[in-house]
Amino acid sequence: MNIDETDKPFAEASEPYLVFGAPLIGEEEIAEVETCLRSGWLGTGPRVAQFERDFASYKGVGEQQVAAVNSCTAALHVSMIAAGLDPGSEVITTPLTFCATINAIIHAGLTPILADIDPVTMNIDPAAIEDAITPRTRAILPVHFAGRPCDMAAIMAIARKYDLIVIEDCAHAIEAEYHGRKMGTFGDFGCFSFYATKNVVTGEGGMIVGRDETHIARARILALHGMSKDAWHRYSDTGYRHYQVVEAGFKYNMMDMQAALGIHQLARAEANRTQRERIWQHYMETFVDLPVQLPAGFEPGTRHALHLFTMLIDESCGGIGRNAFIEAMHGSGIGTGVHYLSVPEHTYYRERFGWKPEQWPEAMRVGRKTASLPLSPALSDGDVERIVAHTKTILRPTLPRTVARSGRP
Ligand SMILES: *Cc1c(COP(=O)(O)O)cnc(C)c1O
Repeated sequence: MNIDETDKPFAEASEPYLVFGAPLIGEEEIAEVETCLRSGWLGTGPRVAQFERDFASYKGVGEQQVAAVNSCTAALHVSMIAAGLDPGSEVITTPLTFCATINAIIHAGLTPILADIDPVTMNIDPAAIEDAITPRTRAILPVHFAGRPCDMAAIMAIARKYDLIVIEDCAHAIEAEYHGRKMGTFGDFGCFSFYATKNVVTGEGGMIVGRDETHIARARILALHGMSKDAWHRYSDTGYRHYQVVEAGFKYNMMDMQAALGIHQLARAEANRTQRERIWQHYMETFVDLPVQLPAGFEPGTRHALHLFTMLIDESCGGIGRNAFIEAMHGSGIGTGVHYLSVPEHTYYRERFGWKPEQWPEAMRVGRKTASLPLSPALSDGDVERIVAHTKTILRPTLPRTVARSGRP
């Protein structure tokens, strides 16, 4: 790779811009969406039912223990309502997460409480959870960050000790396992995302996995206007069915058009993970000498879902800061991500809750230094080599020329 590549503001036609998180969409998905469109049945129907059955079988749970919805945010929201927590109850979660985790707590009428991360795993620290418990604490909402399972033995022990509900944010963790058990099956609820950048893609989409079938039955009602159970099938070919509205619900149902993608995406989840594992190992091997902090090794007995490859970039070590790195990569035609600026860095939460980033120093430190490289199974070997070459060129302190120009276009 020619170092002068980094001088180009935008990639040449022969090197298309690598959009961060671009999904791998197969011919099966395309054909299934077309069949769905031609069938005239776009809304919630047979394909959603099949996707639910497939997901239940992938997770090893019963068919009545899953409910498809139209986002993970929706899954988190209705899970917390279905859990029946009293208004104002405190829910302990991580400051290193997407804003949807916190917003869902707020919209459920509950109070988010942050507990700092472990600096090695970047997952919520069980000791910090225990420190954050008050008489109003009712739930723990761990996020399996980047696809790395949280310390569920410790978290479930705390939940038992204080009689707390556990809702797992599994947006990154579809394929993850902890000591032989699949993520999303530890807590009372597991919430999954099929957003366009996630490991299994339906465009927008989500799934709730629940330990208790009655919780899932309520979640289904909440996700479709609060209409009684049969409403999910009210337009089926078995004829019109009357329904009752039994509570004020939401419009959170998944469409067949989305499930058409999900059915085939889920079938390839393991193959896609294998492909991401190759890229991950290649990054780990080639970046070992770079002045950055690479992801920690995998904990024994766990299976990482390999959703995000995050590096901590410290200007005092490598001579280039995180933001300059992101801009330089962009200038080289490569999209990267930031996962995440810690929650209290955002204005709304600071103003509403009086939070300061310094109160959760580990999440603050990670959030200010972290950058995520593309890890999609859609990347060709050539794409990966391009990412590797530019990353090494930009980060290697022995090439100050590139560093000095990093701010361009
Ligand atoms: C993507 C994401 C969500 C929200 O998922 P949607 O399906 O987009 O609603 C929630 N939590 C985390 C950690 C996420 O990364």
